[in-house]
Amino acid sequence: MARARDFTIDLHVHSVFSGESLAEPKDIIEAALQKGLDAICITEHDSLSVSLPFDEISKRYPLKVFRGVEISTDAGHMLVYGVTDADWNDWGKSGSVHAQELISKVRSLGGVVVPAHPYVMESCGLCDANPRVHVDERIRGLSGLKALEICNGKTAKYPLVCGVLSQYARSLGLAGTGGSDAHIPENVGSSYTVFKTPIHTVQALAAAIQSGHFYPRVS
Ligand SMILES: [Zn+2]
Ligand SMILES: [Zn+2]
Repeated sequence: MARARDFTIDLHVHSVFSGESLAEPKDIIEAALQKGLDAICITEHDSLSVSLPFDEISKRYPLKVFRGVEISTDAGHMLVYGVTDADWNDWGKSGSVHAQELISKVRSLGGVVVPAHPYVMESCGLCDANPRVHVDERIRGLSGLKALEICNGKTAKYPLVCGVLSQYARSLGLAGTGGSDAHIPENVGSSYTVFKTPIHTVQALAAAIQSGHFYPRVS
């Protein structure tokens, strides 16, 4: 995996609290430790508070567990990092969130928004082994972004996705994150982000993402 002084975080993980995964917190944490990750960030759909039990459970393990949220917007799914339960108060849980409004809201709270899996893969029958990939048009024109999720574990078998998104991110001067989007423990760490220094708080995580000093990996 990464060099000893690097700090690796799977920035996109779902658990049983998402309502669409059977992954128990302890199994996710143990899988992350087994993969050699330093931290994970739980990003359940549309609710930050639903993953609160992780705060207590993770105390028993030598793994840092952050909590963020994945919000459904008019420009696709957006990962939110660096906000706290009291400030966030499950804003946006009721749906119909405007992406630009989300970016402003999160920025005012000191956090950062990262578009999740912002690509479209053309399905074309027999050529599915070598599909066409495009940047999701809905994220073009959004202002205030610092990074995109360019490697998502679900597309690990399509290196082209990472390539297309990373080229797009570079053209805009944006950094690229990696996250597994795991819904089962076995997939935790299938993609992750390598930071240069240890990170201990969600505020520091947001600052680190804003700094752009990291890169994605696929394992
Ligand atoms: Zn998503
Ligand atoms: Zn997700």
